[in-house]
Amino acid sequence: MRILSKLLLAFALAFPVSSHGALTVFACEPEWAALSEAIAPEAKVYTATTARQDPHHIQARPGLISKMRKADIVVCSGAELETGWLPVLQMKSANPKVQTGDKGLFFAADQVETIGKLEKVDPTMGDVHPEGNPHLHLDPYRVEKVTRALAERMAELDPGNRDQYKANAKKFSERWEANIERWEKVAAPLKGKNLVTYHSNFDYLLEWLGVNVVGDLEPKPGLPPSSRHLASLLELSKKTSIDAIIFASYQDKKGADWLSQRAGVPAKELPMTIGGSEQSVDLISLYDDLIQKLLKVTGSPDNS
Ligand SMILES: [Zn+2]
Repeated sequence: MRILSKLLLAFALAFPVSSHGALTVFACEPEWAALSEAIAPEAKVYTATTARQDPHHIQARPGLISKMRKADIVVCSGAELETGWLPVLQMKSANPKVQTGDKGLFFAADQVETIGKLEKVDPTMGDVHPEGNPHLHLDPYRVEKVTRALAERMAELDPGNRDQYKANAKKFSERWEANIERWEKVAAPLKGKNLVTYHSNFDYLLEWLGVNVVGDLEPKPGLPPSSRHLASLLELSKKTSIDAIIFASYQDKKGADWLSQRAGVPAKELPMTIGGSEQSVDLISLYDDLIQKLLKVTGSPDNS
């Protein structure tokens, strides 16, 4: 009997989160769900949004609240991307593990430097991101940093599986680094291309690949393209060579099509995250698909 209770105690100490040591993860976006699964394949992972939804604007539905209630860790982009809905879920779920300041609340943007931070924000600037651009899952080097930090956080929450999380993160990073090398070779012809984008969704990706953003379909961040603004982009296209117009799969394509037809520049829908296209089924295929589509729409040679 004493041996049995000792065994039970040892077991409980080894697996403090649940009897199987499996974390329950609430991921705000598909990219963080994929990363969580890579680090913790045993975890129960729930994804709050899809690539067809605008992650800036999500309804705090009852289904999301009940999922958050069960979470050991919430993994989100941060930098205020989810500011319109995440705080409501935290409050209504009343889950004491995932409130502000808790270890169970993990923001990717807190683990890296963001680009486009703003010193001062005033209401005339539109729906800007003062803490910098939150769409950092499209920079592979930042993803690597987030991977290490997320594995560390999971290990803190579930120390019994520390070695496993660390080993899985290492395995993911090795594979990821080999892909970065390959991507940089394949995407080399994109360097110096000029794009018009729609919101700052792809800024990290384009900065990494050396692609210039010469215009944006949004007159101000968060505002849809106005006819006046589109006319100014058409003027721009006469002075500056534009190679392509890109927009994310959740965005309205009307503005891009309008400019495309009049400026004689191709427009292309790109997956913003996993599931945004048929080809993007995980993080690696998402990057593959983005690069292939960019090469194609800008008429660049494919070196792969
Ligand atoms: Zn944004």
